[in-house]
Amino acid sequence: MKQIQLLIFSALVWMSCRTLPETHTSNLSIETKQEIKQAPMKTEEEWKQVLTPEQYRILREKGTERAFTGEYWNHHEKGQYHCAGCGTPLFESSSKFDSGCGWPSYFKPTQDSVISEHVDKTHGMIRTEVTCSKCGGHLGHVFTDGPAPTGLRYCINSASIKFEPSEGKVK
Ligand code: FE
Repeated sequence: MKQIQLLIFSALVWMSCRTLPETHTSNLSIETKQEIKQAPMKTEEEWKQVLTPEQYRILREKGTERAFTGEYWNHHEKGQYHCAGCGTPLFESSSKFDSGCGWPSYFKPTQDSVISEHVDKTHGMIRTEVTCSKCGGHLGHVFTDGPAPTGLRYCINSASIKFEPSEGKVK
């Protein structure tokens, strides 16, 4: 009887050992598919064709527009601000505030996942660059001197976003 139990136990151990690597391989293939999905949306040539020169300079070359010159630093309509590259809704007008810095400023994105953060050590400073998670376009930087409830200030280039009123289409 004990021999049969031992045989069954051995068979179960053998089966579980066999299935583990298969499961692992299966997960790997899913990850690979996701990586393919997240591949760059467009080539730089394609971006040049769909963006204005100013949008391209900001979004694709990490440029910065001059303070108090962009379309939205003094913009107060109700609606959403979408990525000018891929259309992802990035910020709500309800999270916009007057920071006085000359760029549109928000204390939070529509969802944490729509924004990616990167350490930026250019220009002799250490800042946190923010990009669109979907298309990788450069948006601006996030600082920790914002208002409640987050204490964050997303300082965004107007040229990297496009406003859409609460009712209606992209302006
Ligand atoms: Fe985008």
